[in-house]
Order: sequence, then C-alpha cells, then structure tokens
Amino acid sequence: MQSFDTSLELAIQPIGVFRDMSKSILDPVRLEDIEFSNDEIARYSRHLIMPEVTLEGQKKLKAAKVLCIGTGGLGSPIALYLAAAGVGTLGLIDFDIVDYSNLQRQVLHGTKDVGRKKLNSARDRIKDVNPNVHVVLHDAMFRSDNATEIVSEYDIVIDGTDNFPTRYLSNDVCVFLSKPNIYGSIFRFEGQCTVFAPSLGGPCYRCLYPEPPPPGMVPSCAEGGVLGVLPGVIGVMQAIETVKLIVGIGDPLVGRLIHFDALKMKFREFRVRRDPSCPICGEHPSITELIDYEQFCGIPQAQAAEEAEPPVPEISVEELKAKRERGDNFVLLDVREPYEYDIARIQGSRLIPLGELASRMSELDTAEEIVIHCKSGVRSAKALRQLQKAGFAKLFNVEGGITAWADRVDSNVPKY
Ligand SMILES: [Zn+2]
Repeated sequence: MQSFDTSLELAIQPIGVFRDMSKSILDPVRLEDIEFSNDEIARYSRHLIMPEVTLEGQKKLKAAKVLCIGTGGLGSPIALYLAAAGVGTLGLIDFDIVDYSNLQRQVLHGTKDVGRKKLNSARDRIKDVNPNVHVVLHDAMFRSDNATEIVSEYDIVIDGTDNFPTRYLSNDVCVFLSKPNIYGSIFRFEGQCTVFAPSLGGPCYRCLYPEPPPPGMVPSCAEGGVLGVLPGVIGVMQAIETVKLIVGIGDPLVGRLIHFDALKMKFREFRVRRDPSCPICGEHPSITELIDYEQFCGIPQAQAAEEAEPPVPEISVEELKAKRERGDNFVLLDVREPYEYDIARIQGSRLIPLGELASRMSELDTAEEIVIHCKSGVRSAKALRQLQKAGFAKLFNVEGGITAWADRVDSNVPKY
C-alpha cells in the first residue's frame, strides 16, 4: 500500500534496544506425542544438529499449527519454506484462481496451474516439498463471519494478502484470540515486516493505524505494480519470524518493524510502540467485534467513492465493436499510461494519459463523440467526469476497459 512508506515513518521512531523473548509460544504438553520417522530425521538433520533447535525444536515445529492467509506473492515463500522447515499443520485461505499475471512472483504456482484454484495448486506443491505436512485448505474469503472459527484452530497467523480488509480483520481477530499476527506488506520496490502481538507485549496494527483510510485514498491493488522478487524477501522474513516464535529462539520482531528498500538495498529498523489508547488492544477498547471493510480494493464495491456521484454513461465492448464496424464517427480515447499502451492497445485509439488530460483538453473537440477507455474502466470514468466538467457532452465510458475488450472481442490483445 502506498500509505506505509512515508506516513508510517511519522508514527514510529528509529530503534535503540529490543526485547528478548526466549520462549516458545507452544505449550510443552503439545510435544508429548510427537515422533519422527527415520526419513524425517534425515530430512530435518540440518536443524537437529543445531543446538538452538535440536530434536526438541523440531518437535515444536511439527506440533505447530500455522495459518497463512493468501497463497499469492507473500504466501508463496511463506508456505514453501514453512513446509520445508517441518511445520506440522499449515492452513491456507484463498478463493482465487491462478492467472498468468500471478506467475511473475507467486512461486507456489506454475504455468501448468493457470486456471486452477490456487489452493489446489498450493497443496500439490507443498505436498511435493514435504509430504509430512498436514495441509488444511480454507476455500473462502477471510471475513468477519468465519475469521474467529478459522483462526482459533491455529497458533500463529501470517497475513500474506496485503490488503486493508484482511489486514484489519487478521489484526483484530488475533488481538481477540491472543495469537501472534505476522505482518508483511509490499509495494513496488519496498516492503516491511513486523510481528503484531499485544499478548507478547508488542503493539497491534491499530496501535499504528487505528482506522483504515477513506476508500478513495487507497490506490487500486490491481494497478499497483510490485517487483517480482520483492515478496520473496518479505515473505521469507515472515516465515523466519514464525519459526523463531515456534522454536522460541532469538529476538522476535515484536515491537520492531523492518523496512526494506530493494532499489537502495537498505534495511531499516523502527521501534513500534503499543498505544494505551488503541481502539482494540488499549485500556478502554471501543472495538469489541470484527469488522469487514469491504469497500477497499480487490473486493466488490471498490468504486465506493465513485458511487456517491451519478453513474457515467457507459457502453459495453460489444457496442464499441459494433460502432466501429458501422463506421460511426467518434474518437476512441485511451487514458492509460504510455507503458501500458506499449503492452496492449485497441487499434485506432488516441492516447492521452489521465494525468495529462487537464492540460491537453484542447486536443479534443467538444462537438465530437468521445468514447473513453482505460484498463478496467475506473480511470476512464474519472476522465469522463473531468471532460463533463469542462463542457464535453457526448461521452461514453467503456465498461471493463481494454481487459474486457481482450476477453470478449479481440483475444489477440494481450492482458496484463
Ligand atoms: Zn493496538
């Protein structure tokens, strides 16, 4: 999310010292029935010979139940490494289908898996990495009505989805159930990681951000790029913190936040403090039940901010095709960025990026009919409103944008 980089730095301060917590979060009773086959002994030998881990630590890993929300960019390295390390029960939540645009970073899934459910693809890959792992699939969207029931089965929750509704929901349910919540976030070339755990003396997410930003302030998840390798770095950090909490070694990332800048290749560490007036983990909490923030990106109703205004005149891609075939006289205006235009375009369209529209309106004629498109229809609706305010009247927004055009009219146009 765009908001984390600069605004978070105001809320947190560079760190001097950090806590030591050399105790596993698991009850020792849980280890009593744990045994290993000779194959497992061989598999985990590089753990067993480390005095910090030993057979005892490996038993803790096998006894542990970890929930990973999402099997995408962050969830991929998290699930792969935790499975390889020998976490006994790995729960996965996802409802998505593998798409070509996932493969640049979601290394759980392969080309052969495109079109499959991510959960099934993830299960097959994890079982190949380590057949001893008990994989539990939760084929659902993580919501307030299932979060408590799902999370109560696990020792640790890892948020691998990186969107606002899940971030707040996993935070809140973990506060209520006293479970550590391993947080990771990525945007473009930067990422961050911390462990939210009021039960271990640290802050929760709402100690930093009590409420989500207004929906209109959140950039669309689908349109925010991310460097393909970046989730590997952040997801692996989340997996390491998980292993440390289970085995009970080292200094956990409780009360500390690591920010990573891939372009500068810099890690910075910040102290994050518990807020006594936090609305959920503070002394007088005002939030006492789970909330669904559905209006954010990645979830229907994403254009909540737009919905306050009257709807814009729209045409479908089929109608656009028919207009072109009839030879209607109109301008097809593409308001995407030039680098998107280079990837895919509709023949005959004229490119004026949304950000340049205000200064380049003189290139357009109010007498002409203008049909506007972008990638999915959101930016072009904004462009249409801008033009309406400037006195243009004959305007149409292409519903679904060039993505719908590629899906339903011209399969030669690549999707991105
Ligand atoms: Zn809090």
